Amino acid sequence: MIKESDLQAEQASQREVVPAGDYYMQVLKAGQTLRILDLEGNQAADTLFYSAADPSERYSAMDTIREQGNVYLTAGTKLLSNLGREMLTITADTCGHHDTLGGACATESNTVRYSLDKKCMHACRDSWLLAVAENEQYGLTKRDITHNINFFMNVPITAAGGLTFEDGISGAGKYVEMRAEMDVIVLMSNCPQLNNPCNGYNPTPVEMLIWDAA
Ligand SMILES: [Zn+2]
Repeated sequence: MIKESDLQAEQASQREVVPAGDYYMQVLKAGQTLRILDLEGNQAADTLFYSAADPSERYSAMDTIREQGNVYLTAGTKLLSNLGREMLTITADTCGHHDTLGGACATESNTVRYSLDKKCMHACRDSWLLAVAENEQYGLTKRDITHNINFFMNVPITAAGGLTFEDGISGAGKYVEMRAEMDVIVLMSNCPQLNNPCNGYNPTPVEMLIWDAA
C-alpha cells in the first residue's frame, strides 16, 4: 500500500548515508521513527531487529506473516517479535511492498545459486557478522543472526508456490518508514549482491533518517 509520510527530512535528528556493502547498527528508541531511503533506486536493505532490553527477543517473519495474513510487508504492517509483541509499525511506504521470505545473501548461498567462484564475494551475512563483532556492547553473537526483512526487494511468489528474485519495484527517492513500539536495535546490511537483480546489478547507497517522538 502506497502511503506517503508527513515527516520532513530537515527535521530528522539523525541522518546517515550507508554505502552498499556496509552496515548500519543503531538503537531506535520507542516512539522514534526510522526512514530507509532508497537514494538511487532498486537497492535491497537487509534488516534485522532486536529488543534493546533483551536481544533474545527479535523480529520474527513467521509471527508477522501469520498475524497479518499477508507475506508482504507495507504501510500498516506491525513487525512482531518471536514473543508476538509489536516491535515496530510501518507508518509510510512509497515502494508498495517488501519481502521477508527471501533471506539474506551469504557466501554459501552465492556458491549454490551461482557458482563456486562467487564464494569470496561480499555478502549481507558477512556484513551482519562484522557488525556484531564490532559492536560487542549489544551482546549479540553469530547465533542471533536469523531471518530478516529485505526492504525494497521484490520476491514474488509463483503460481507453483516458489520464490523468484525479480527486478525491483523501488526507484530513486522511494522510502519505507517505521515507528518503534519498543526500544529496538536496528541492524541493516546494505546489500552488495551482484548476481541477481535485487540491486539492479549495481549496488548503491541508502540513507537512514531518524525522527524523535513528536
Ligand atoms: Zn545481500
